[in-house]
Amino acid sequence: MAVLSADARPGLPYWWEGAVWPALDAPPPAAVDLLVLGAGYTGLSAAIAAHDAGAKVAVVDAGQPGQGASTRNGGMVGAHPRLSWDRLTELFGEEVAAGVFAEAAPSLAFVQDAIAREGIDCDFAQTGRIQLAWTRADHAGQRKLAETVAAQSGLPCEVIAKADLRREVGTDSYHGALLFPTHGALHPRKYHDGLLAAVLRRGITVTACCRAGLPVAEGGAYRVETPHGTVRAGKVLVATGGYTRAPFRRLARRVFPLPSYLIATEPVSPNLLGELAPGKRMMVETRARHSYFRLSPDGTRVLFGGRASMVDVRPEVAAARLHATMSEVWPELAETQVSHVWSGNTGYSFTHMPHVGSEGGVHWAMGFSGSGTVMAPYLGAKAAWRALGDPRGETAYAETTLRTSWLHPGGRPWFLQAANLWYRMVVDRAQNLAARR
Ligand SMILES: Cc1cc2nc3c(=O)[nH]c(=O)nc-3n(C[C@H](O)[C@H](O)[C@H](O)COP(=O)(O)OP(=O)(O)OC[C@H]3O[C@@H](n4cnc5c(N)ncnc54)[C@H](O)[C@@H]3O)c2cc1C
Repeated sequence: MAVLSADARPGLPYWWEGAVWPALDAPPPAAVDLLVLGAGYTGLSAAIAAHDAGAKVAVVDAGQPGQGASTRNGGMVGAHPRLSWDRLTELFGEEVAAGVFAEAAPSLAFVQDAIAREGIDCDFAQTGRIQLAWTRADHAGQRKLAETVAAQSGLPCEVIAKADLRREVGTDSYHGALLFPTHGALHPRKYHDGLLAAVLRRGITVTACCRAGLPVAEGGAYRVETPHGTVRAGKVLVATGGYTRAPFRRLARRVFPLPSYLIATEPVSPNLLGELAPGKRMMVETRARHSYFRLSPDGTRVLFGGRASMVDVRPEVAAARLHATMSEVWPELAETQVSHVWSGNTGYSFTHMPHVGSEGGVHWAMGFSGSGTVMAPYLGAKAAWRALGDPRGETAYAETTLRTSWLHPGGRPWFLQAANLWYRMVVDRAQNLAARR
């Protein structure tokens, strides 16, 4: 069987079906208080926060706003940190770890409030998100994490033993799970459409196809060159995520573009979907392949994502790999074809944690490392408030760091070629052996 259906258009995100991309060709104003570079979730949320705090704001994007990660992602809405308590304290100390855990619930509430306040119709649903343990050791780690989450973040979470897992997901591939019942799901492109509409409603200029150059300090402000003219900005906010590149070399050395791939299946019968995903949760794995999967918002298809490769591969290759992994989890889908396959860049940091930072009047929020539907808009707003000296900008994420590595001296992240081989040849095999124990 061919993995791709006859009418599949490889490269086109499932979410882009029915999209209307607005023409945003008005040039940015010549002078603003805050110029935002990048119109994904981070930049748009920053623009809203800064405007509502009284600043004159403009947003420029190198391409069509949203066509970065923000309309390509899995639409899973989660807010607990990517790292364990032990790893966070090791990296940043106990105070920062406590702050990061404490911001899980407020960041989730921030996004839910924004969706409600701005009337964003993005199929948001509190489905719950379940983290599936690939090995027994992973499940033991989940029990420990549940205790930390209860003590430090107050977000509800529930440990699910292997014996009870079939009520959530129709497979025996996993050794247990951790369920976050307040996490949810959304349609990423509609979410972005709604944020963009909220920005435009405020009269903020958003300019597409307008790649900004490096801000140059000049007379107490910044001069930023764009293809649509020069902008003089009191402050600049860099929200370029996994699409950060030269001349923003300092940030590009710290946040590298790690591709993530997704497939959507052809429609599957409701009875079968009921057996495969009875809990209708957002599902993520603990293994390094980082598979994540869900039903489409209309409940007709499976969307299955993961690290099909750590470097760019052709969509057809990614589709075959993801289809194979999906069929291992759910052999019932082995004969189901794929209608969509696409990818996007996650802006990954070497600590796996995001950061809001600044140098002079140039601020940034990035390094979401694949978890940005909540953290990107939340920290975008925090970064904007910090740029304006607004106390609402206080966050533990100002105390994390974006460090670089000797592996990544700049330019293209060549080290990912080696990492890709290492993960595929060594880590993946070791984890598959461990899963059988
Ligand atoms: C395939 C995939 C699946 C994912 N799944 C999930 C998920 O299920 N849940 C979750 O929480 N997160 C997920 N993520 C992560 C999430 O999508 C991102 O963290 C989030 O969208 C980041 O938003 P952003 O605004 O920072 O960056 P982006 O949306 O990538 O926007 C950055 C923008 O900056 C622009 N830009 C770059 N350089 C310049 C310049 N010099 N001047 C002007 N503009 C510039 C780019 O054109 C781009 O539009 C996923 C990511 C991918 C790629």
